[in-house]
Amino acid sequence: MTPKSFKLFKILGISIELDASWFIIFFFVVWTLSTSLYKLNLPGVTLNINIILSIVTAILFFSSVIFHELAHSVIAIKEGLNVKKIILFVFGGAALIDDEPKTPGAEFRISVLGPASSLFLALFFFIFSQMFENYQYLYIPGLFLFNINLILAFFNLIPGFPMDGGRIFRSFVWYISGNYLKSTKIAVTFGKIIALNFALFGLYSILTTDLSGLWLILIGLFLYQAADSSLKQAQIKLGY
Ligand code: ZN
Repeated sequence: MTPKSFKLFKILGISIELDASWFIIFFFVVWTLSTSLYKLNLPGVTLNINIILSIVTAILFFSSVIFHELAHSVIAIKEGLNVKKIILFVFGGAALIDDEPKTPGAEFRISVLGPASSLFLALFFFIFSQMFENYQYLYIPGLFLFNINLILAFFNLIPGFPMDGGRIFRSFVWYISGNYLKSTKIAVTFGKIIALNFALFGLYSILTTDLSGLWLILIGLFLYQAADSSLKQAQIKLGY
């Protein structure tokens, strides 16, 4: 992550920051909401209201990501780790934690709470949308936020290290083998395979003229690089 970040606020002693790259994805989300979701579902809406609704929905979406990262952070602090900050960037959000969990159990608890918090938010927005079924301006954003939080929960559970699912996977291997470095190597190798699959699937999408595949390729490359650097970090810590 680049050093160019903007501080938003502090909560529970954790600084919430925006990386400069985040503005790209924010703009993309607002643009997509405005030109597809609200244009299709609210045909009579004025352009101003459409844009305001898109911006508010996008802010709630990224607040959901912060909520997810805060859930990780609260447990990490409880487990005795130091959370430096939460940062939003072009590929989502990350809680920057100074150290690795000390036990497989701690790793499991910290990792699982993120997707659990997204499931909780999904349920919240689902109930919200059903309560305002007759108010399109609340119903449609509520339904979108329900869907996106559900996707966040399940996407993060994909066992590609260093995503949450990959960390849960490592905690199991770590628990069984009792070997931190070995379990990290296994999880990282598996993570790299998943990352390459993202990239290949993205390439396939582009070849079948679906340009959104480019996004999958970028995510795949990012995850591959992240898996690689987490192994290096683990090796440095153990003096390899
Ligand atoms: Zn997470």
